[in-house]
Amino acid sequence: MSLEKCDIGVVGMAVMGQNLALNIESKGYKVAVYNRDHDKTKKFIEERASNKNILGTYTYEELAKSLNRPRKIMLMVKAGKPVDDVIEQLLPNLEKGDIIIDGGNSHYKDTNRRFKYLQDKGIRFLGTGISGGEYGALHGPSIMPGGDKSAYEEMKDIFEAIAAKTEDGPCVAYLGPSSSGHYVKMVHNGIEYAIMELISEAYDIMRKVFRLSADEMHEIFKKWNDEHKSYLMEITYKILEWKDEETGKPLVDVILDSAQQKGTGKWSVQDALDLNISIPTINAAVNARTLSAIKHERLEIGNIFDTPVNNSLNNDFINSVRDALYIATIIAYAEGMKLLQVASSEYGYGLDLSEVARIWEDGCIIRSALLKPIQKSFKSKPNLVNLIISEEFRKDFENRIPKLREVVSEIKKIGIPIPAFASALDYFDGLRSKELPANLIQAQRDFFGAHTYQRKDKEGIFHTEWQDIH
Ligand code: NAP
Repeated sequence: MSLEKCDIGVVGMAVMGQNLALNIESKGYKVAVYNRDHDKTKKFIEERASNKNILGTYTYEELAKSLNRPRKIMLMVKAGKPVDDVIEQLLPNLEKGDIIIDGGNSHYKDTNRRFKYLQDKGIRFLGTGISGGEYGALHGPSIMPGGDKSAYEEMKDIFEAIAAKTEDGPCVAYLGPSSSGHYVKMVHNGIEYAIMELISEAYDIMRKVFRLSADEMHEIFKKWNDEHKSYLMEITYKILEWKDEETGKPLVDVILDSAQQKGTGKWSVQDALDLNISIPTINAAVNARTLSAIKHERLEIGNIFDTPVNNSLNNDFINSVRDALYIATIIAYAEGMKLLQVASSEYGYGLDLSEVARIWEDGCIIRSALLKPIQKSFKSKPNLVNLIISEEFRKDFENRIPKLREVVSEIKKIGIPIPAFASALDYFDGLRSKELPANLIQAQRDFFGAHTYQRKDKEGIFHTEWQDIH
């Protein structure tokens, strides 16, 4: 190890921090690392970084002293209070102009607060979403930075060196001010929830209606992925062929059907509600996880109400499921992009949605062949009202919405829950409805609460004395 100072520091030696540090080092940079539990730092240096240009440090002072100025320190610690704790302990060791990059899944409101707090102290802050999991962190993630523009310029070379690459460039771009990067990562995760749920619902239909084995479904998803070229579908078919060492059964069959969540999907839904944006497929995916988690209640209720009638669907129906999954996945992206579009204008992010789609093309969990036409859609029409009317997808909507409708109606008769498929169809049907029954809702609101209504035939706000309250 040379006595030269390090180019960057990484705090947090869990999976993401370790792999990012190794990725950065592999691109020719010298990295200093720190972890609260010092044993983890030692273990990392011994087991994974012994002959590399990586320096283990054991106090924040040592970390700060080891870095070239302006210091660049990337935090890869648990989101929430740990980020504030680390910032507080780092601050006495930093100087004006130094840069903190929060690479964790922080809530965007925390990022806004930290940005202002650090700006007042002369510290430049980049709230940076990083997607790709353990593998992506090591081999090339998608990186979503927002915050101080000058700090991004200082970090640009490192970011571009470590990011995944496509023919359209490295999967990183400066997204905008304050919390824009973490907001984009939050919505990325919301879309991720929806696609995972849609794939899982397709799996549920195939195993329950057609009694297909995990091996058979492995083949089907593998074939479908020729079209999707989706990371989430790829891991799905790999999971389906995996056998449990103990029982010899497909591992997926011995995993408890109770999903967990860390919050980014829920945050997307919460913020969409605050912004009056409808993202029903993402919402359905979050709810489906919540419902899956009450296994004991499902067992009790399932003992009382049987699954409804059997079905007479033939194998051609599986092709309809394929088309339904494809179009519903596009709808999930459409919901996420809509949320980004509105949030960008509401929060002053100035997001370029074609750039967002471009940096999602590789490295991240929602990468798929669909990102290219999504990128093109927003490149040619930055203010596109909704992705579902993009020319890029016109034929898909014409041809596959009838299949989604067929799948939703047939599966509903059988009683298998498909909340994400059904919500995607409702989103489409709601958006294309020139008339919705909200006129009646307005009348009801005015009836009981004098909330007033607007009329179709003239301007103004109206109220009717529906009842004699005296
Ligand atoms: P994690 O399990 O989220 O966090 C563990 C790390 O946080 C450890 O280094 C731990 O230090 C440190 N930490 C916890 N509380 C701390 C505190 N009060 N002060 C200082 N350090 C503290 O790790 P991860 O999975 O690598 O994720 C890191 C960040 O990236 C998170 O925000 C996560 O949401 C995000 N992320 C994760 C993935 C993924 O696939 N895992 C993907 C994308 C983004 P000790 O060892 O001392 O406990």
